[in-house]
Amino acid sequence: MRFLDEYRDPGLARRLLADIRATATRPWTIMEVCGGQTHTIVRQGIDELLPAGMRMIHGPGCPVCVTPLETLDRALAIASRPGVIFTSFGDMLRVPGSSGDLLGLRARGADVRVVYTPLDAVRLAADNPDRQVVFFAVGFETTAPANAMAVLHARALGLGNFSMLVSHVLVPPAMTAILDSADNQVEAFLAAGHVCAVMGWTEYEPIAARYQVPIVVTGFEPLDLLEGILMAVRQLEEGRREVENQYVRAVRRSGNTAAQEALRRVFRVTGRTWRGIGPIQASGFVLAPEYAAYDAERRFGVDGLSSAENAECIAGAILRGTRLPTDCAAYGTSCTPRRPLGAPMVSTEGTCAAFHNAGRTR
Ligand code: SF4
Repeated sequence: MRFLDEYRDPGLARRLLADIRATATRPWTIMEVCGGQTHTIVRQGIDELLPAGMRMIHGPGCPVCVTPLETLDRALAIASRPGVIFTSFGDMLRVPGSSGDLLGLRARGADVRVVYTPLDAVRLAADNPDRQVVFFAVGFETTAPANAMAVLHARALGLGNFSMLVSHVLVPPAMTAILDSADNQVEAFLAAGHVCAVMGWTEYEPIAARYQVPIVVTGFEPLDLLEGILMAVRQLEEGRREVENQYVRAVRRSGNTAAQEALRRVFRVTGRTWRGIGPIQASGFVLAPEYAAYDAERRFGVDGLSSAENAECIAGAILRGTRLPTDCAAYGTSCTPRRPLGAPMVSTEGTCAAFHNAGRTR
């Protein structure tokens, strides 16, 4: 199939692997910060084909997984209210909060609906003027422009019954938090191609310079990842520490400036707590004051909930890249994709689900 097979060519993959083996003189450690990349790496066994000692560690690249428990509990509290239609992408429905998940709430009668775009939620609000329609806006910079456009569209339609529970997070501050941590092991990053398609890569240049770490903007197919890894290894071996772009077919240095303008209009940067990692300064979006009327937290007054993580789940260490899913005592036993204890086992982008789907054992 055009645009797929050409990035999955086995012969080319073998040549790239041979180049990586011929270039690497040390067991470098590289982190990808994208759940889609994690799934390709684990499903294709790329991490197991690298030279001995070289490690791929799987960073906090799954937005569902880093959504804080408190936010999930707020979602459950809002969705429980009478008269509310709570909308979300499907992967949030089975993420456990302190007392169950959205799917369970729906089974008990709450009006929780899966939508495929935030504009579906705006349409629901227009069609149901007597109901409050809430959209759960979760994601990295990739999904934020569509959510910004939904708010602009709701305002243009004069909808007073549409709001958003916003839990957007930003990738560059998470990378610096990892590099600043005492147990950091990362020597190079693969940056997520879709995030950079929106934001470009200028934000990554000061990180590469300050922390002396190569950053390679990389796509999602097996050959993209092998070439991204090769580019990172070449930089490490040659002593270069800069931003390079492997994903030239989709990413420009300046990114998508129209999308960035929508983000500037609708959101402001704020500190966010990342599940399993903790608070990171300036690492997320909140609605700008002129769009505060669309803020579901404010509209429904759901601050002050207390939340408790499952004690067995080591998702934090996995998201920081210091442990693997197979290090977790619950992996594959009390925690499976059918009965997940933590978000990384639920999401299609979660590292625990990637390992489980690939049949990795402890
Ligand atoms: S296997 Fe389950 S319990 Fe263990 S870290 Fe992953 S999500 Fe958490």
